[in-house]
Amino acid sequence: MARKMLQFTRLEKEMPAKRAAEDRKGDFQEIYGGFTEDGAGDQASRCEQCGIPFCQIHCPLQNNIPDWLMLTASGRLEEAYAVSSATNNMPEICGRICPQDRLCEGSCVLEQSRHGSVSIGGVEKHITDTAWENGWVKPVKPVTERSETVGIIGGGPGGMAAAEQLRGMGFQVTLYDRYDRIGGLLVYGIPGFKLEKDVVARRVKLLADAGVTLKTDFEVGRDATLAELRAKHDAVLIATGVYKARGLTVPGAGLPGVHRALDYLTASNKVDLGDTVPEYEDGTLNAKGKNVVVVGGGDTAMDCLRTAIRQGATSVKCLYRRNQANMPGSQREVANAMEEGVDFVWLSAPEAVLGDDKATAVRAVRMRLGVADATGRQVPQVIEGSEFTEPADLVIAALGFEPEDLPTLFGEPKLPITRWGTVQVDPVTKMSDMDGVFAAGDIVRGASLVVWAVRDGRDAAEGILRYLDAKASQSETSAQTAEPASKLAAELAQVS
Ligand SMILES: Cc1cc2nc3c(=O)[nH]c(=O)nc-3n(C[C@H](O)[C@H](O)[C@H](O)COP(=O)(O)OP(=O)(O)OC[C@H]3O[C@@H](n4cnc5c(N)ncnc54)[C@H](O)[C@@H]3O)c2cc1C
Ligand code: SF4
Repeated sequence: MARKMLQFTRLEKEMPAKRAAEDRKGDFQEIYGGFTEDGAGDQASRCEQCGIPFCQIHCPLQNNIPDWLMLTASGRLEEAYAVSSATNNMPEICGRICPQDRLCEGSCVLEQSRHGSVSIGGVEKHITDTAWENGWVKPVKPVTERSETVGIIGGGPGGMAAAEQLRGMGFQVTLYDRYDRIGGLLVYGIPGFKLEKDVVARRVKLLADAGVTLKTDFEVGRDATLAELRAKHDAVLIATGVYKARGLTVPGAGLPGVHRALDYLTASNKVDLGDTVPEYEDGTLNAKGKNVVVVGGGDTAMDCLRTAIRQGATSVKCLYRRNQANMPGSQREVANAMEEGVDFVWLSAPEAVLGDDKATAVRAVRMRLGVADATGRQVPQVIEGSEFTEPADLVIAALGFEPEDLPTLFGEPKLPITRWGTVQVDPVTKMSDMDGVFAAGDIVRGASLVVWAVRDGRDAAEGILRYLDAKASQSETSAQTAEPASKLAAELAQVS
């Protein structure tokens, strides 16, 4: 059905239906449903079709949002999918987990004028889920095959996006990952209630169907050095993400019962995938029947809190040293966590983990926000004499991630890194100072977002294409200049 645009005057913003907290907190399935075809068309028709689309400018992929909204409103979903997938290798994943309030939807003119933004993420998810249902999503098919090979280290969204782009350009691509499954944090970090695992698995299968070689359980540093991979491939892309967790540094942080967020989430995700995880079975990484305290205020902390609720914890508390308005995590996820029963203890910081042979409680102190520092954020300050104790059998530190020491890990001291430990690359080509070695995603930016990893992966693929094209034309030129010389040598040999 064709609809007129600019229907925001008539239609309110609606989000895809959300399951009630009581229903959803007993399982790991996604909490948001999808739009119906009519619902998506109606919501898409609210778009103002701005001359300067701020949504597009603020989408890291510069998705052509107004066009695919217009096509959706006209019922032309296959064309909407073609436009949407032209700039994004996983639109249905971004539609589900991008923090739209900080990106496209937050910049929508309708949001700024208080009409409520177009539900861009929900429509994006609808378009591509419909495309999957109708068989419109196909593996990339190169127009011509090329002989050059590219090795990609890391099968997260950055590596996956680069693999698909490079395969489409005709290169022979191998994706190496140290885990047993491809997907990176899409599989082992982000819980199923935000992103169900089969949504990622069908993207991985698409890569295999396109001819990308997937090598799991292959750790660079253990199974090969970077130099060995570089010698094997015409170019190498590092997309290894950031995995060194910042831990708690308070007394008692070493007690049994204190764990790092990603260990906890990985165990839970593996269980969700049907794996047997001994640390979950024996209760070490299982919140069932426990008082859980999560320290931190980002998206990882929200995921731990909501996982603990689903595992059947007795109580789930979040200690965060700033207030709600100053949290780094998405407000949408905070609201979801509150609905599910998480108790937020704002303006509080741990001083010690208490217990004799295992954690039994966290001693914390109240904070207030002082003057802003050079970054503009108010600095939390301790309120003297405000100590309090929270019972805790399971304490989870969700304090962020840093890059691992890649030069040591990869046996490559020449790999250029920044003072933050991220890989240093040219911002446009994504190539490092090592010839033919590129990098993309969190390992370049530090902990970031899926949509930025996809963008980097696509940019790196372009950089690799230019690099390999230049190499190919160089060897063509030297072959042409070498030809007359060898012809002359052959003629001389005949004469003599
Ligand atoms: C708990 C959690 C929740 C998040 N929620 C969101 C969200 O809701 N929305 C959002 O946009 N972003 C979210 N993020 C951030 C997002 O997941 C990352 O920004 C994104 O996955 C980065 O992609 P990447 O490809 O750079 O790295 P990763 O996804 O980390 O993938 C890197 C891959 O490299 C592999 N690898 C590492 N070292 C080696 C090696 N030596 N050899 C071989 N393989 C190696 C790893 O096994 C991994 O598979 C979340 C992150 C976490 C931790
Ligand atoms: S990729 Fe993310 S930021 Fe871009 S349009 Fe989709 S949801 Fe919005």
